[in-house]
Amino acid sequence: MDSLFESVEGENREERLAELARQVSVCTRCDLALNRTNTVFGTGDPYSPLMLVGEGPGENEDATGLPFVGRAGKLLDDILAAVDLTRQDVYITNIVKCRAAAQEGGRLKNRQPRTGEIRACNPYLQGQIEAIKPRVILCLGGPAAKTVIDKDFKITKDRGKWYDVDGIKTMATFHPAYVLRQRGDDLDRAKRAVWKDVQAVYAEYQKALEERG
Ligand code: SF4
Repeated sequence: MDSLFESVEGENREERLAELARQVSVCTRCDLALNRTNTVFGTGDPYSPLMLVGEGPGENEDATGLPFVGRAGKLLDDILAAVDLTRQDVYITNIVKCRAAAQEGGRLKNRQPRTGEIRACNPYLQGQIEAIKPRVILCLGGPAAKTVIDKDFKITKDRGKWYDVDGIKTMATFHPAYVLRQRGDDLDRAKRAVWKDVQAVYAEYQKALEERG
């Protein structure tokens, strides 16, 4: 674990997460600190066996401090509801905790986080994984999969497969925002793929709950 977190030894995982969130709220480890309104640390059940990892805050998330707000968030809710889950049943975070944006036509537009920004923020994600100890991780989109599973991960080819990441069953599926950008047959295909992946993830989630007893 990154030495940044050697001092994060709360008595329980809520305390560890609260300390990490406090560190994130004042973090200046990368330039994404410059334009943020709010950091977006993560939400949900820190005792859930399932962690969802997305890409990073966009405009709405930056404004609210919450992950997956807006249309992509609504679709994520629908995806979870398809297997009878809500946000409160899982823990949701991102690979970067501040909005990546660039000036375009006189206003800030969301952009993908850069490799250096993802690397700078990774200790916080690792700290969350260490604290929560999920049994299953679902990466949402290619950047999350490249960060958590393998730098050479190809989302179209490698999604829907299980990977062992330090003993955690890990899968990646399409990001809800990607699904929303599809049209016609591509939209149907993307939705079917995500629904299939989430069913497999739910089966592992259930298994983890049963084993916990
Ligand atoms: Fe710090 Fe992560 Fe925000 Fe960069 S994105 S400033 S590393 S919290």
